[in-house]
Amino acid sequence: MLRLPQHTLDKIKKLLLLRQREVEEQLKEIEKDDPLTLDAPIESSESGTDSWQAEVHGRLVSLKTDLLDLSKKIKVSLSNLSKGTYGKCESCGKDIETARLEAMPTATLCLSCSKKSKK
Ligand SMILES: [Zn+2]
Repeated sequence: MLRLPQHTLDKIKKLLLLRQREVEEQLKEIEKDDPLTLDAPIESSESGTDSWQAEVHGRLVSLKTDLLDLSKKIKVSLSNLSKGTYGKCESCGKDIETARLEAMPTATLCLSCSKKSKK
């Protein structure tokens, strides 16, 4: 059974849905801003115009990767919420600190495991 009170779960769910919408908006913005097609490989070019395009493109691609990663985490958290498995540490299986979840609803590791996993 989940130890988190329902109002906390509701709050977290709202936060996750909000984040998800933001991420989707940002992804759309990125598609618009990118001078090159996003999934096209960056080809090195001699010309100066192409190099700034490639630079902007590279920045947007890494931003997009981060956003997609976040979006995946949000989806996992939401599905865990509906399954009732939300808030468990993926590494040690203990409950993740409530304050941590409220601050970072996509957290899948408890505080001590996340410290350990940092290089
Ligand atoms: Zn843990």
